[in-house]
This record gives sequence, C-alpha cells and structure tokens, in this order.
Amino acid sequence: MAFENLSERLQKALRSLTGKGKISEEDINKASREIRLALLEADVNFKVVKDFIKQIKKDALGKEVQESLNPGQQIIKIVDEELTKMMGEESVSLNKSPHIPTIIMMVGLQGTGKTTTVGKLANYLMKKDKARPLLIAGDIYRPAAIDQLKQIGDNLNVPVYSELDNKDVAEIVKHGLQEADKNKNDYVLIDTAGRLEIDEQLMDELKRVTEVAHPDNTLLVVDAMTGQAATKVAEGFNADLDLTGIILTKLDGDTRGGAALSIRAVTGLPIIFTGQGEKLTDLDSFYPDRMASRILGMGDMLTLIEKAQQDYDTKEAEKMAEKMRENTFDFNDFVDQMEQVQKLGPIDQLIKMIPGMANNPALKNIQIPDNEIDHIKAIVYSMTPEERENPDILNPSRRRRIAAGSGMPIVQVNRMIKQFKQSKEMMQKMTSGNMKGLENLPGM
Ligand code: GDP
Repeated sequence: MAFENLSERLQKALRSLTGKGKISEEDINKASREIRLALLEADVNFKVVKDFIKQIKKDALGKEVQESLNPGQQIIKIVDEELTKMMGEESVSLNKSPHIPTIIMMVGLQGTGKTTTVGKLANYLMKKDKARPLLIAGDIYRPAAIDQLKQIGDNLNVPVYSELDNKDVAEIVKHGLQEADKNKNDYVLIDTAGRLEIDEQLMDELKRVTEVAHPDNTLLVVDAMTGQAATKVAEGFNADLDLTGIILTKLDGDTRGGAALSIRAVTGLPIIFTGQGEKLTDLDSFYPDRMASRILGMGDMLTLIEKAQQDYDTKEAEKMAEKMRENTFDFNDFVDQMEQVQKLGPIDQLIKMIPGMANNPALKNIQIPDNEIDHIKAIVYSMTPEERENPDILNPSRRRRIAAGSGMPIVQVNRMIKQFKQSKEMMQKMTSGNMKGLENLPGM
C-alpha cells in the first residue's frame, strides 16, 4: 500500500508523544528527528523536509500546544495540517472550457501510464459528468500504443481518432479535433508520445500539439515509484509547456511516497488525480487532507464513500432497498450485491481505508481471498431457482446436495446461509428505520 513505511514510522514517532500531560522541548526534538528521518527515507525532497520540520517545531513549542489538555494529540493535528499543506491544501479539479469540447492533453515519459490514464480519465468523466469523450491517439511512434488506446476505447465504447500513416502528430490532433466538433464530443483526451528521458524533439512536438489544440488541461503523468526523480521530470516538462496539473500513477506500488509529498512543494503544480492500479476504475481525485490523514493512519472514509457512490449502481441499490422493505430479497439479489462490492476493489484494500484499520497490527498480513465471493456464487448457482427465491426451504438434505454440487464443504454452505439470513435481517431493520436490536448482530 502507498506510504506504508512512512506511515508506520511517523505514527511510531508520534506515539511517543501521546498520552503525556506535558511535552518537553527534548521530547519534541526527539520526535522531530524521527519524523525528519522518516520523510527523508520516504524520498521527500530535503528542502521540503527542512521547512516542514522547522514549522512543526515552531508550532509544537507554541503556547497553544503547551497549554492544551492533550499536547500529544495537538501535535498530531499540527503534523496532519502541515502534511496537508505540503501536498497543496485544497483539492484541485480539471479546468472546464466554457464551450465544448474541453481539451485534455496527457504528457509524460514512456511507461508512466499515459495511455492507461487516458482511458481511466475518460471512464471517470463518463461516470461523473455523463461525458461523451473522443480520444486521440497521438503516440504514433509506438504502434502498440495506438492499439492499446483502441482497445481501451472499445472497452469503454468511446471513439478513438487515429491516423496510421501520418507522422505529423500536430496534424493528426487537428483532424481529431475537427472530428470531435463534427460529433459534438464534450471532452477530447489526447494521448501523446513519451521518451525514456526528456529531449528536445519530444518537447518540440508537444509544443506544436499545444499550439494546435490549446488544451484547457495539460496534465503530466508521472510514476510515483520513481520518487524524487518524478519532481525533476515535472520541472523539466513545466519549463517548456504550461502544465496545469499532475497525475501521479502507480501509487499502489509506492510504499515510500516521496513524489506525492514533494511534487507540489517543489514545482507548485497540483496533483489532480492518482492512479492506484491497472484497471480503468483505478483513478482517484486527490485530496491533500485525506491523504495526510491516511498517512497518519486516520483512514480515508471519504474516499471510500466516494468510490462507493461512483462505482455503485444507485438504481440497482434502490431496487435492492425496495426488495428489503418488501422482504423479497433472495439469493439472486445476494449475488448481485456481492458483485457490486467486488467492483469496488480488493476487500483488503477497502478495509485499510477505514480509520484505525490501516495500520492495525492484526490486519497487517490480512489476505482476504478474492475467490471468497466466487465460492459464495458457486454455492448460490448450485441451488434450484426455487431455493434461490425461498431460502427458508433449505433443509439439511438440500444443503448436502448444494455442497456436493458446488464442491464446497457443508460447513461453508451452512455458514453462507446463516450470513445471508443475518444480512437480510440487518438490512431489513435498517431500511424500515428500526435500528433497535442491531447491536446484537455481528460486527455492530
Ligand atoms: P505509457 O507508455 O505512458 O502510455 O504507459 P502505459 O499506459 O502503457 O502504462 C505502462 C504500464 O503501467 C502498464 O502496464 C499499465 O498497466 C501500468 N500502469 C499504469 N497506471 C498504473 C497504476 O496506477 N498502477 C499500476 N500498478 N500500474 C499502472
């Protein structure tokens, strides 16, 4: 998970301060030293670290902390606020053009995730704004990139503009924009070529595309795993192009977090989105305050809720609620619900977004098998249609047959049926507004 090491070390440094009635200058110096080392090891820019520590020390020694009832917690609050500031304080959204289309140009080095991110962003805009985007394949030197974009377009059912024999990218983009005008697309996303390092030819080409396209957003895609090198790349691109923001990819594999923490402070450019996986849904808006809370192990409930809203089919959810109220929720619905949850992502990652769970030692090595839901599905599919609709008729002999049919042990079948009944009972209470008795249910 992103920031794992940093998160653990910062929390350890801060734990030594909590619960103390009074905090001495020595305590603060000691904690600051540990925080400093933790940040440097996370590959945060040293100048950023220096300013950060200076500010923390100043605030921690201030009157407000020293006179507070719980100085340790007050210091955690300060660290949380300073981390938030380091990452930009406010969340920044995409620029939107007053007339269609809004043009988004994606730039960056090769392999950082530009093409994938074009797809993720198109998917995000379609869900959030009901957008009708057009994608332009401007990475013409890598034939595979055009195919990759076309594949993404097919998956999303979004048109992709490409010209296989044309070597003039600016011209391709110009034609692509004409196509978007004709089709009244409201967003145009331009994928561009990357190199292994910044060179003049790449920059010239990107500048020419900029002159043709006048993008509302020029987004630099950087790979979080490259740490501080990412900030150098950002400075390089920003010197030649008017970047409007950063998309930080591969945060899922970045246990250090240096790029996320330094890039805003060093370049002044806001991180707008983060990529947290290879799937088209693995793109999140970036909120500095939520990220800071996550680093300090305070969870990230808001992101979780947003994810649920975005990926969860609300019509489907309303239909389910109706079934609960009418008490007609059956095993078919149960499987549908499971599939909705599955769409949100691996369950162990979701759990870690809940406050207090991220660094809970008991959950450190938790592995919730992805196939758990598949097992449940196998059990349900081994039921007859009648059984799926009337769970009450599932007597022992029927259960044995289902176990044999699904290849699952009978205890697992029994457990699943029990869980189904419990969830049904709980959800019915919730939808009917009667919360009494919920406290007796597991997990409440
Ligand atoms: P491009 O050369 O910049 O267009 O990069 P691609 O879009 O082809 O991506 C390069 C590789 O990075 C692919 O294997 C992607 O699946 C992977 N990738 C992109 N974004 C992410 C991300 O946020 N997390 C992870 N784990 N992989 C990513």
